[in-house]
Amino acid sequence: MIVMKFGGTSVESAQAIERVAGIVKDRIACRPVVVVSAMGKTTNKLLAIAAAAVAGHRDTALAQLEDLRQFHHLETAGLGVDAQIEAHFQELTELVKGLAVMGEMTPRATDAVSAFGERLSSIIVNAKFRQLGIESVHVDARSVMITDHRHAQAAPLFAESYGRLAATIPALAATNVVVMGGFIGSTEDGVTTTLGRGGSDFTASIVGAGIGADEIQIWTDVDGMLTADPTVLPGGYRVKHCSFAEAAELAYFGAKVLHPATVLPAIEKNIPVRILNSRRPQVEGTLITAEAPKSSTPIRSIACKKNITLVNIVSTRMLMAHGFLRRIFEIFDRYETSVDMLATSEVSVSLTIDNTGNLADIRREIEEFADFAAEGDQAIVCMVGDNIRTVPGVAARAFIALKDIRVRMISEGASQLNISLVVAASDLGRAVESLHREFFSNPDPAAFE
Ligand code: ADP
Ligand code: ASP
Ligand code: MG
Repeated sequence: MIVMKFGGTSVESAQAIERVAGIVKDRIACRPVVVVSAMGKTTNKLLAIAAAAVAGHRDTALAQLEDLRQFHHLETAGLGVDAQIEAHFQELTELVKGLAVMGEMTPRATDAVSAFGERLSSIIVNAKFRQLGIESVHVDARSVMITDHRHAQAAPLFAESYGRLAATIPALAATNVVVMGGFIGSTEDGVTTTLGRGGSDFTASIVGAGIGADEIQIWTDVDGMLTADPTVLPGGYRVKHCSFAEAAELAYFGAKVLHPATVLPAIEKNIPVRILNSRRPQVEGTLITAEAPKSSTPIRSIACKKNITLVNIVSTRMLMAHGFLRRIFEIFDRYETSVDMLATSEVSVSLTIDNTGNLADIRREIEEFADFAAEGDQAIVCMVGDNIRTVPGVAARAFIALKDIRVRMISEGASQLNISLVVAASDLGRAVESLHREFFSNPDPAAFE
């Protein structure tokens, strides 16, 4: 068995889904289990509709909902799923009207709304497969993907999910292509949850681990993991092979092509992950395994994360008293705000966060014992490579390449395979370009293409 996950752009239209069907057909002998995202930008649209409803813009919300309904009908004309789509939009309309009355968005309601994208797309893709002669069967992901109650960011209950997946999917996959939605799950008592934005990749790897798949394929709109984020620097090279550790680090530091949690289940069961392009299925993509062949290029890729806030905290006592760091982190922890990068000196701490939702409260508490300054519009640039730990001089080359850019913070060594820097968001493009030129002017052809 293999798991094939198709992202939003790969299933954005009738034509795109037909392309997916062709890709799946060509691999039918591998017994595919297909995981799909919502069509195109559906999840964003659903969340916008819910937000408009609770903000009192009921008519706007209902008009946008109607657009989404028409879009789903238009792209599925002749598939025989009109009644099912209609039933889903009925249910969704009731929910949106309810939100407009309540004027309040509960996490549970948010998940109920955003789950509709994958609920619909999985039914649609399954119907398209059948129409095109693929014997396929739909499984409601919520019956096999069991999570905790943390709505919008639910954590899978692995033992329970693996048990359910193993008990149902392989038997079905023996005779049919299984189709299910990514991103969605349910609590043990049947309440719909979601795994967080971009979570369909995570679904795919959990399914892969649960059924002991031979490979987990992430089909998307780029040729694989590229040497730089193409939205920041176009024209990077395809990374042919990287390690689980490199992929996890890149994903965590902003390479959106993979959800950061994706590789964890794959590592646990040692299942290869491959990133592939659904528009160019002939391209080999990026293979991700426990270890990747060494290359003469010391870094594998440059990730970046925008919308970062840099926080500087200076102890108001002369020296950093014992317990100072613990106190600071206890506050960030209590406000569920994760810290990405960290640097300390004798009396001060610099750190970065990307969730500023609770910043005012955090500031108030920290100002009881320290000076606090926060600066938005920053970005993290993160060079990743297993070779960083063995090849000397990588940091030196990076700093020479960045000699004209003000680097606000540096972190190296914690994971041994990354060197991270903070720069102003306005310098991000220049920083990535300079680093890319330094490290990838002459990339090792065995490792990059
Ligand atoms: P999908 O809908 O298929 O899940 P995503 O939009 O979530 O697709 O992820 C693919 C996108 O990730 C690409 O279009 C690209 O803009 C972005 N991306 C960011 N960093 C990288 C990188 N290093 N390599 C490839 N893609 C990247
Ligand atoms: N549809 C969800 C999102 O847009 C999940 C995914 O696409 O991976 O976040
Ligand atoms: Mg994605």
